[in-house]
Amino acid sequence: MSAIEGLIGEFGRLPGIGRKTAQRLTYHLLKGRPEDASRLSAAIDRVVAEVRPCGECGNLSSEAPCEYCRNSRRDASQICVVEEASDIAAIEASGRFRGRYHVLGGHLSPLDGVGPDELNIAQLVQRLAGGITELIIATNPSVEGEATAAYLHRAVAPFTGLRVTRLARGLPVGGDLEYADGVTIAEAFSGRREM
Ligand code: ZN
Repeated sequence: MSAIEGLIGEFGRLPGIGRKTAQRLTYHLLKGRPEDASRLSAAIDRVVAEVRPCGECGNLSSEAPCEYCRNSRRDASQICVVEEASDIAAIEASGRFRGRYHVLGGHLSPLDGVGPDELNIAQLVQRLAGGITELIIATNPSVEGEATAAYLHRAVAPFTGLRVTRLARGLPVGGDLEYADGVTIAEAFSGRREM
């Protein structure tokens, strides 16, 4: 395979990038200044080398623990559970939540072999033992996201006194949290209800 075909192939493996876009990106880089392409390559190398899941919450960060777990001004009594680290950026953009996060690393999907043990759930249960008063379940409003929320609700039942809430409806059904706008997410937080 030629060098050009190799890069087209790599771009084509990215989500939402078809063969045509992969070709366009590749030729765009080839036509541009070599240093621009090298900067992209270096940025990729850097995240691969530096970014790791936070040992506390599972967020992806170059810092350990991550910026949300380190920030003492954030409310440590509230944990918002999300499927992916990318969901955190969407919630932060809403400006509505000032607690801590917990990243599951996906959702329950038995057909794909993703059960509770494949998700970051045991660590969540451990964290709940430390003075958490509210667990906000912000898994996606999809079939899998709802099933995951219901599983979590049962899994944390032994923590009596823990308020377990779910973001209000209104988020695009079947869509990903990361694609919802800040105002919609802020409203979903304000209207969250007990599970
Ligand atoms: Zn963290």
